[in-house]
Amino acid sequence: MQFNSDRLSYYFTTLCEIDSPSKEEAKLSTYLQDLFQDLGADLVFEDDSSRFTGSDCGNFVVRFSGSRTDADPVFFNCHLDVIKPCLGVKVRRINDVFYSSGDTVLGADDKAGIAILIEVLIAIILENKPFIPVEFVFTTCEEIGLLGAKAFDPASLVAKYGYSLDSVGVDNVIIGAPASYGFSAEIHGLASHAGLRPRHGISAIQLAAQAVSRLPLGRLDDETTANIGLIAGGTATNIIPDYVRLDGEVRSHDLAKLHTTLDLFKNTFQDVLSGWQDPHHVITARPSLVFSAPEQYPLMKLTADSLPVVRARQASSLLSRSLQFLPAGGGSDANFFNAAGLPTAILGIGMENVHSISENIKLSDMLRTAELVYSLLTC
Ligand SMILES: [Zn+2]
Repeated sequence: MQFNSDRLSYYFTTLCEIDSPSKEEAKLSTYLQDLFQDLGADLVFEDDSSRFTGSDCGNFVVRFSGSRTDADPVFFNCHLDVIKPCLGVKVRRINDVFYSSGDTVLGADDKAGIAILIEVLIAIILENKPFIPVEFVFTTCEEIGLLGAKAFDPASLVAKYGYSLDSVGVDNVIIGAPASYGFSAEIHGLASHAGLRPRHGISAIQLAAQAVSRLPLGRLDDETTANIGLIAGGTATNIIPDYVRLDGEVRSHDLAKLHTTLDLFKNTFQDVLSGWQDPHHVITARPSLVFSAPEQYPLMKLTADSLPVVRARQASSLLSRSLQFLPAGGGSDANFFNAAGLPTAILGIGMENVHSISENIKLSDMLRTAELVYSLLTC
């Protein structure tokens, strides 16, 4: 394989310096669609997910049919959007390492992945190297809740499995990630003047406090975490609050544990409210609860005999490299691809300190990932 580090550096820098905050990915999308057309893509297709995501463009798919028919088609995924602050990125390179100028993120998350795909593709084309059918799936709005992947229809792909280029480290392959459910508990009490008619109110905040003090929060076991991150309610210091809302999340690598925890949370709130008694016998109303727990993202769990794992082992052994297969603590686009029946692993691409202005990446690590992607496409 013949990679050109100057070319990779050029495309990486160019991509980072095109603004693409979440919901405003169109400029980057247009640049990339034109580039892949020029490189001879067999299909460039943009979906209608912007209706759901609110972005100024959809997800888009690029297909190169390849000349090999002896292996299943594969896809590679990157997200187009970058977390803030990300406007006016100026890339600085110090020897082998790329940084931003210090007032924005760099955007290696996830533009390093895109640049790697471009470099591998150009290298393969210039070498006239036979490769398996491949699709690139570029998603919008990953950083604001995986919205593009959630709205993506995998039926538009011919690929049978894939890889998201979207994790830290190199030679890391993420094969598991938790499912996550958000939850909200809305407690309705009864308002009354706190100084003049204190016996005629039901404090929603006090009930919430009682319930929260009984909940297990933080790390519940090695697979499960729970958090309440927001609380809002009340209207004034002299009014007994008739409403409070708490928002949180539960994550687990085990769906049964996740649902058991959510049930415990709901029942704890309900038990506190059911146990409320009016000490003065002057109120006929009762406090009430509205509890909801929508899925944020589904579980991801790949087995050792799944295509992404088997092919990654093959590709890395040809490079005489060993990969680390690891679980992750958070969700990504890959959770949705897996849930849709497309086994998808996540590859580390070398980015470091992501989601901060000290984000950086080594050119040598991008080249190392490019070797693995090249091997996946040609082995
Ligand atoms: Zn990312």
